[in-house]
Amino acid sequence: MKYPYTLPELSYSYDSLEPYIDKETMEIHYSKHHQGYINNLNSSLEKYPEFQNLSLEEILRNIDKLPEEIRTFVRNNGGGHYNHCLFWQIMKPNGGGEPKGKLKEEIEKNFDSFEDFKKLFSETALKHFGSGWGWLVLTSDKKLKVYSLLNQDTPLMNGEIPLMGIDVWEHAYYLKYQNRRNEYIQNWWNVINWDKIEQDLLENL
Ligand code: MN
Repeated sequence: MKYPYTLPELSYSYDSLEPYIDKETMEIHYSKHHQGYINNLNSSLEKYPEFQNLSLEEILRNIDKLPEEIRTFVRNNGGGHYNHCLFWQIMKPNGGGEPKGKLKEEIEKNFDSFEDFKKLFSETALKHFGSGWGWLVLTSDKKLKVYSLLNQDTPLMNGEIPLMGIDVWEHAYYLKYQNRRNEYIQNWWNVINWDKIEQDLLENL
């Protein structure tokens, strides 16, 4: 991903994650919120050609090297663009179930069982205070770890690979679930695209 950034195509329709993620939320989340991060990111880099040739991953991994006047803005909006690109890809219609292959093996190695992992990830996302994301990441020493980050911060900023993230900003669930974040999180397990997550794991192990 490079400047100027554009909204990636969705590989499924707005209503195809129903009933777990409703059509209206998908449409607004993708076409308004995500597009908004992209517009802001592009405008912040407009006057900084030296950063336009870097990939977004490189920018986020080296966020401290950005000029102070755009650093926070790029952190928020560049992180927002990166996180949402991943979010759309790790979901799919008729997803869910359990991970297979190497991903299943690594989850069991790091968290004992899929059920234990699911519980930890769900609780982490549920207990995160305010806006942010719950993450499953691959650390630099090739371990899997679960934690949450504030706002649009991304694990890339910690030198880690984000494998799976759940958006717990209210814009991700409020229209359908209002204050019931737990119900949103539990339903989200039904739309997970485990194949994409395993593919990213294999590419980075
Ligand atoms: Mn979002």
